Amino acid sequence: MNKTTKNHYIKTNRIFNPVRKYGWIITVLVAIGGLWEPKLGLVVLLIMGGLIITSFFSGRYWCGNICPHGSLFDKIILPYSANKKIPEFFKSKIFFIPFFLFFMFNFTRKIIMILNSWGTYDILDKIGALFSNTYLVVMIAGGTLAIFVNSRTWCQFCPMGTMQKISLGLGRKLGIAKKTEKKITISDKSKCISCGKCSKVCPFQLSPYLEFSDKNQFDNINCIKCNTCVENCPLKILSLEKEDKSAA
Ligand code: SF4
Ligand code: SF4
Repeated sequence: MNKTTKNHYIKTNRIFNPVRKYGWIITVLVAIGGLWEPKLGLVVLLIMGGLIITSFFSGRYWCGNICPHGSLFDKIILPYSANKKIPEFFKSKIFFIPFFLFFMFNFTRKIIMILNSWGTYDILDKIGALFSNTYLVVMIAGGTLAIFVNSRTWCQFCPMGTMQKISLGLGRKLGIAKKTEKKITISDKSKCISCGKCSKVCPFQLSPYLEFSDKNQFDNINCIKCNTCVENCPLKILSLEKEDKSAA
């Protein structure tokens, strides 16, 4: 599928692994199935642990390759999405930081209330219900934005995305991510014809071709390493590489 919309951005395949193809089933299972079996929500604990650990080493790789909501947005909803430009407001710190703090405050308050009933037989149901209800809210809010604005609008201010940026920031500060993080890399900047295709197909509407560093890498902390630009560059000069493999 390579369908041009009225605007600048292009809908194209973003699914390059089986987890991205079928991950959306987990979203539906946890969000909807959790209404009947709240313990299904406990899966989200594994998901949170996974994304915090992987982002320390490799940034938002989780968002572009593993996230079940990302799979829902890109595999199921993208064909029906308006695919508009994502409003800058959703990407701005004045929005996503207060949203993150509000989310964390609210979530922590609910967890403390539940933990007050520690020892009761249904504690796991209560914790699971909190997570699965949160998953359902994200599915409805993120899904609505995905249809009427852009499939990855929610991801601009998703609290889990913000947690990953914090975790990567720590990994980069400690010098560990420098050795482990893969970034979009251009083999030779002089070969780029500035066609902008890498930007037009990017789910996050980033512009790697305008931002390559001296090491020929795209350092943007929001890149979800989804490979869509790699697959669509007409000259095949992009790849996902660690810094030590990038062309100097
Ligand atoms: S798609 Fe390839 S050739 Fe086109 S602007 Fe991006 S890097 Fe350059
Ligand atoms: S720059 Fe490339 S890898 Fe990064 S989010 Fe955009 S399309 Fe995906």
